Amino acid sequence: MLSDRDRIFTNPYGFHDWRLAGARMRGDWDGTSELLARGRDWIINETRASGLRGREGAGFATGLKWLFTPKSSDRLPSYLVVNADDSEPGTCKDRKILRDNPHKLIEGCLLASFTIGAHACYIYIRGEFIQEAAHPQQAIDDAYGAGLIGRDACDSRWDFDLYLHRGAGAYIAREETVLLESLEGKKAMPRMKPPFPAAIGLYGCPTTVNNVETITVVPTILLCGAAWFAGFGRPNNSGTKIYSISGHVNRPCNVEEAMSIPLRELIDTYAAGVRGRWNNLLAVIPGGGSMPLVRKHLCNTLLMVFDTLSEPKSGLDTAAIVVMDRSMNLIAAIARLSAFFKRESCGQCTPCREGSGWVMRVVYRMVEGRADPDEINLMEQVTRQMEGHTICAFGDAAAWPVQGLIRHFRPLLLERIVAYQHEHQPPLAAE
Ligand code: SF4
Repeated sequence: MLSDRDRIFTNPYGFHDWRLAGARMRGDWDGTSELLARGRDWIINETRASGLRGREGAGFATGLKWLFTPKSSDRLPSYLVVNADDSEPGTCKDRKILRDNPHKLIEGCLLASFTIGAHACYIYIRGEFIQEAAHPQQAIDDAYGAGLIGRDACDSRWDFDLYLHRGAGAYIAREETVLLESLEGKKAMPRMKPPFPAAIGLYGCPTTVNNVETITVVPTILLCGAAWFAGFGRPNNSGTKIYSISGHVNRPCNVEEAMSIPLRELIDTYAAGVRGRWNNLLAVIPGGGSMPLVRKHLCNTLLMVFDTLSEPKSGLDTAAIVVMDRSMNLIAAIARLSAFFKRESCGQCTPCREGSGWVMRVVYRMVEGRADPDEINLMEQVTRQMEGHTICAFGDAAAWPVQGLIRHFRPLLLERIVAYQHEHQPPLAAE
């Protein structure tokens, strides 16, 4: 179990003052000028040595990503964009950072922007977030007032401006190119890649997009050292991470723990266990609504690691753990997720636009069992046609929950279909 002195997030539940005075008492903005004075190469090397990987999505190495960003030239400026959309079903980690630890995020924005040579940074926040936008905005104003950002930020001779931008609240805006389109005032639709944002991003300039949690942990890593951070977890999956645990547990929570902690330990220690004990567990979605579920027998030994989660064909993504016990109507739960993805599809590409609606309608029929057994295979084939055949990864996100259901619960689907057919058999004709 991670000790309190090793936790990066010192105000995880908002019990303490989130304003500048309180943040400073907890060590935020401590030695920021000295960190900046050590230079870009040192920051990149330290971040790479810490093993920090993006705290959302595929977990790309953060230091490497910064290394790839072309430095601003006379011709074009560079930008840092922080993805604060936090809209994955089951996820609520970034909103806690925004609400209760905004200064840590702002300090991270300054350090990361300096490293990639960006004089401006945009935090793109989900439109529905009210308090989560109000607190960072106040914190930005306070940081400007204290000379921590703005002209000659932290006496570093680096001019740095930070803007908070509220989106209109579309799930797809968590995809980096959509976020950039939306920031530019356009409709929230993904761009074709390549070119990648590192080459042509915001306003056609080199842009690095990082998640809120990723940026927020940077100041502490630099202050405490790469070796300290790399000492938690396993090689390649090191450091600490915020997990959101929800669903059928006794105490849903957000908690910071070491990477690669066993799933069962995480649930038992922090969420007071599965409702009705571990044996009552049916399945877990380990990384938010777009990740395939994992059946109980695989959960027994599952580690919260980017790599081992690919073995049970799921993913860590946002580390939003949704626990489902035996009382769960699993097919109905996946149907609901399918309805979500159908509604949120931007409609640009046919496999996603048509596929997500078709899949949703079939899964809803399967909730009642009103389907043909052959439709299970057909549904799987359709999800395979959606996966990897679209402009952005949303097609995969809409396909994977259904694939997980078929992979692990095909007998349940068949059982429901047989029961329905049995119930609705036409009466035998009289002799
Ligand atoms: Fe839009 Fe879906 Fe295509 Fe992504 S995959 S561009 S969300 S239609």
